[in-house]
Amino acid sequence: MGIAATERHGGSRIREITTQARIAGTGRWLLTGEKCWVSRLTEATGFVAFFRDPDGQISAAIIDARGAGLEREVTEPSGLGGWSWGTLRLHDVPVEVDKQLLGAPGEGLAIFHRHFTAFRPLVTATALGTAASVHQHVLSALATRRQAGILARIRDNALITLGRTHAEILAELTAVLTAGRLAANNHPLADLIARSGKAAGADTANRVVAHLAPLIGAAGYQRAHPVAKARADLAGLLYADGIHDSLYRSAGQALLQRVPMDATVPALVNLRAA
Ligand SMILES: Cc1cc2nc3c(=O)[nH]c(=O)nc-3n(C[C@H](O)[C@H](O)[C@H](O)COP(=O)(O)OP(=O)(O)OC[C@H]3O[C@@H](n4cnc5c(N)ncnc54)[C@H](O)[C@@H]3O)c2cc1C
Repeated sequence: MGIAATERHGGSRIREITTQARIAGTGRWLLTGEKCWVSRLTEATGFVAFFRDPDGQISAAIIDARGAGLEREVTEPSGLGGWSWGTLRLHDVPVEVDKQLLGAPGEGLAIFHRHFTAFRPLVTATALGTAASVHQHVLSALATRRQAGILARIRDNALITLGRTHAEILAELTAVLTAGRLAANNHPLADLIARSGKAAGADTANRVVAHLAPLIGAAGYQRAHPVAKARADLAGLLYADGIHDSLYRSAGQALLQRVPMDATVPALVNLRAA
């Protein structure tokens, strides 16, 4: 399956999507609009498309990837190769409301959030797994150079980076396991933890790899080198499945809403009024 959610105005503003369904007979809608940055553009057998239904609410439907009215434009990414990516244009794509609508009309946003609450911990684990493999690569490169006598000893800056990044990866991995467990149990905090956890996990993976990569020298700068590939792939995960600053921002908003009234605040408000 592919997910067709993001539009040109910005994926961080899902509530403003413009892809529109119009009524075309009883129980039948036609979808028109443009989705961008869609992964698995040519491999997917179906897409979950998010759109504005005839009542103006956000709904979600499964559309057949081989069906009529789909136009694709493949874009080359700078990392994350292995599947196709790009623009999906919908030209009067038919939707049988009874068969293809996910949930009830107007449940699109709830479906979007449910999907990403479960999916974001997987994305985060993938980012951390990539960082862990770079850690392993750097560790064995340094060990090999020392055993071969190329390095008389491993300098402190390398040892400190190895120790610190190992702890950072493990800390985020523990958080991601918790996020996955909360999502599996439909815990009320699952969405919040999955959002901030994805942003923090992707940030950590990027930072850790940026600090580790120089330790193996120029070799890691070759295009085909696994560390160079890891860096390009991890940069993509700052955007894919939730842009990181928007995730932190919405997590901050959710945290603010959960804070109970502080007894000292009314006193401060009165003080200001006086
Ligand atoms: C590798 C990859 C795979 C992807 N796969 C899919 C997919 O399968 N399906 C899909 O639907 N999408 C996919 N996406 C899209 C992804 O979900 C979006 O990139 C993400 O939601 C961010 O969207 P955007 O680039 O449109 O950013 P925007 O929403 O435009 O945000 C860009 C920046 O602008 C900032 N910004 C927004 N509003 C304001 C404002 N008012 N003032 C100041 N700054 C603002 C944001 O905070 C952010 O920093 C993929 C992206 C990538 C990179």
